[in-house]
Amino acid sequence: MKLMAGMGWLLSAFLLMPAHAQPGHTHGVAQLMLLQDAGTLQLEFVSPSINIVGFEQEPRTTDERDAVDDALTTLKDPDSILSLTSLGCLIGDVQASMTGPIAIDGDSHDHGHDDHAHQETEHSAFSLVIRLDCESEQLPTEFIIHAFDTFPLLETIETQWSLAQTQGAQRLPAGITRLRI
Ligand SMILES: [Zn+2]
Repeated sequence: MKLMAGMGWLLSAFLLMPAHAQPGHTHGVAQLMLLQDAGTLQLEFVSPSINIVGFEQEPRTTDERDAVDDALTTLKDPDSILSLTSLGCLIGDVQASMTGPIAIDGDSHDHGHDDHAHQETEHSAFSLVIRLDCESEQLPTEFIIHAFDTFPLLETIETQWSLAQTQGAQRLPAGITRLRI
């Protein structure tokens, strides 16, 4: 988290990286990052598509396309991952997208299970970036987690935060409903 300290403006910490450099494409695991710069709070969420829609190949059937559209609509709800609307901040820019399928180096991802039926080139991910404008820099010390309810296939969220009052990281297993920062 050293990198974040002292940054005068917010960068998307890992969404801008090439896919193979993204931290751990591990099925079941998603990454969540909270970044704060003065009154601006940014949430970033990245997950293998399999946690979100149950598949990672290019959507081909109507059902698959609908599943992707529904997931993107769901992600754009500011409370899909964390309770953001309760913060009293203005919800600004919201970007949700599905990236891939893309080739991922064998070393940089882990299936976490024995299903090798799909091709190495068929890994894809969903990403979400939400920017909020907050009047107060003081954020609550506890956030309500909605992601496991929203996406029942999700097993773990690797959380990192770099906020005005604190920095840290925590690995949240499914069933956890609160993130204490
Ligand atoms: Zn995958």
